[in-house]
Formats: sequence, C-alpha cells, structure tokens
Amino acid sequence: MGNTAQTFLLVLNSGSSSLKYSLFEEKSLREVLQGHVDGIGLDRCCLKVKRDNQWTETKFLAEDHLHAVIKAFQSLKDNDILQGFDQIQKVGHRVVHGGEKFTQPTRITPAVLKKIKSLSVLAPLHNPPALAGILAVKKILPKVPQIAVFDTAFHHSIPKEAFLYGLPYQLYEELGIRKYGFHGISHEYVSRLARKALNKQRSEQEEIITCHLGNGSSITAVKNGRSVDTSMGFTPLDGLIMGTRSGEMDPEIILFLLNQKHYTTAQLEKILQKQSGLKGLAGSSDVRELHDRALKKDKQAILALDMLAYRIAKFIGAYAAALKGLDAIVFTAGIGENAYYLRKKACSYLGFLGVKLDAHANRKNLTYISKPSSKVKVLVLHTDEARAIAEQL
Ligand code: AMP
Repeated sequence: MGNTAQTFLLVLNSGSSSLKYSLFEEKSLREVLQGHVDGIGLDRCCLKVKRDNQWTETKFLAEDHLHAVIKAFQSLKDNDILQGFDQIQKVGHRVVHGGEKFTQPTRITPAVLKKIKSLSVLAPLHNPPALAGILAVKKILPKVPQIAVFDTAFHHSIPKEAFLYGLPYQLYEELGIRKYGFHGISHEYVSRLARKALNKQRSEQEEIITCHLGNGSSITAVKNGRSVDTSMGFTPLDGLIMGTRSGEMDPEIILFLLNQKHYTTAQLEKILQKQSGLKGLAGSSDVRELHDRALKKDKQAILALDMLAYRIAKFIGAYAAALKGLDAIVFTAGIGENAYYLRKKACSYLGFLGVKLDAHANRKNLTYISKPSSKVKVLVLHTDEARAIAEQL
C-alpha cells in the first residue's frame, strides 16, 4: 500500500497527440511509475504504464488532453502508489518554447500561462499541447504548484553572433527571428553527467559537444556548462537530417519549390516535417530498419546513414572551432545510445581532432567508447528528460 507520508513529483510531457508522464518520489527522486498515452483525439488511443519494469497496456478513448490527463491520474491511483492526489507536491511540464523570456524553470501563474500561449506563434506544433496539459492538471489539482521547464532555456547563453541570422536586423527586433535551439533539457542533463564523469577541476576550461540523436536530432556546443551554439534554429527543423525532417538546406529551395510545384504552405510544411529526412531519402525514419537494409547492401539505406554520419561529423568539427577546443563528445537518445555503426562512421572523420574510438566498447554501447589514449573522450550517456525536469522542480 502507498504511504500517506510519502510525497511525489509528477512530470508531464505533452505532444500533439501524446502524453508522457512520470511519477517520482520527492525525496529520493526514484521514478515509481511511467505512463504514455498515444493517439489522443484518435480512435486508436492507448495507455501504457510501466511499473517495476513491467508494461501494461489499455485501450481507451481520449477526446483531448484533459481526458488523457484524467486517465493518467487514474493510473496513479489504480497502481496503489497514491492514496490521494494530495501526495503530489509539484507538477512539472516540459514546454518546448520559452522564447527569450523564459531562461529558467518558472512557476506557472496566469501571467506565465498567457506568455506561453503567446509563444505558440513560434512553436505552433509544440506549445499548444503543453498548455492543454497545464490546464488539464489545473482542473484536477487547482492548488498544486505547476512549473514549466523550457526546452529552449539552456540555449539562452548562446551569444548574439551565433544566434542571429544574416537577415535584416529589424526582423529579429520585430518578430524575434533568431536561433532559439531545442532539446535543451536533454543537452543540459547529459552535459552535466559528462562534466561529472570527466571530473575536471573547476578552474579548468571544459568543452563538450552533446549529440542528441533521436526522432528529432540536434548537436550542442557546451562550454563550462553553458550552451554556446546548437544545430536547431528558429524551429526544430534546422540542423541535422532527422527521422522525417529535412534539417538545414539552402532557403532558396523553398521559394523554388513554391514556384515550380505551386505547393500550398501546408503541403510544403508536410514535406519538410513529415516526408523528408531519413524517411524521404530511404523510405523509413527508423535507423534500426535502415541499418538492417544497409547490411543487405540497400543503396538508399547506406546513403541515408552516410549522409547523417557526415553531418554529425561536420557539426562536431564546426563546434570544436566554436568552442576553441574539445574535451568530450557525448552521444545520447534513441539513435545516439544505440546505433554504434553511426557513431563509428561519424567518429571516423574526427581523427584529426584526436578522437580514437574503442571499437569493442563502441559496439557494446559502453559509457566510455574512446581509447584511453584518445585526446577527446567519447561517451554514450542515457538521457532522461523527465528526471532532468524533476530535478529542477
Ligand atoms: P528517441 O526520440 O530518443 O526516442 O529515438 C527514437 C529513434 O531512435 C527511433 O526512431 C530509432 O530510429 C532510434 N532507435 C531506437 N532504438 C534503436 C536501436 N536499438 N538501434 C538504433 N536506433 C534505435
């Protein structure tokens, strides 16, 4: 039975049709339950709950995020962990876009809510679901403090020469067009773990490049614990080739396509966000599938993986220059933590920086995958955005 004296933190990560949540013991930060609602607003909605490393799955209908949050709260009670919701002390939300305003975790007040809403213009796919999650929790737990943790916040330290585009300056002043960067919660978390692992003296400079390679991918240059540049930009479309997103390209291509193909903006958005990247190049956004096909000599799969590895290496090279040095490279997230062949290929470009990969350690996804003699350490670290948020509540 749950213990009434025990208190918990709840972390929510709301996507357009999904809701991920994790419950942590407040004192120990032990994760006691994890849940994932998929298909909100669709007829194939389901809830998966993980407790003691066991997943259970239930199908149900969730019209909107309020229904999904109600179901999530029910799952907390059904699991005999909570006796009452008053055991939840704080709720943390991952909010993708904090603009220039939010540079640290922020207690959600009506004014903060309004500002997050106004930032939806910059993140139309991402901020509205987070708002829906916040409002749903407010209905269920009106008195419990809710805190927004922003995916852009870690990047607020990027200097102006790196965050501005070569566009008329007034477009930055009028519309806030600049690089914001994303995945900040993950980059901050793994760079902190890496700093601990490297165990350097505080006085020493410390340059780390973190590669978050998952469904969405980005690379960040971190100097002494602060982000100084990152590959995503004004939106999460920029930078690396991703599962279904194009990544960086000549902006004139958009105008050329509009003229030649007469696409609507909605069609163009769909191509850039959903039909490009690995999927557009080789028919699948799943690196596991592409690797299986590459082993069978499928040319498109080999090309797509080669293109991704090349770009990863190119960003690392550029960021080594931005940092004026490099102590460590960190690989994280679904691809970064598992796809040893991509790490191997990307690192094969980096010998000139003093990177020497240990083939065996890399193949086994060990934490340290560089040789002891490698000037630059290469690490594989598991990212845990829910925990990173819980730590900041
Ligand atoms: P994430 O966004 O961190 O959940 O990463 C999701 C992506 O990681 C998937 O689309 C896969 O391409 C990739 N991935 C997950 N597991 C593996 C694996 N064992 N090997 C290679 N890639 C993987």
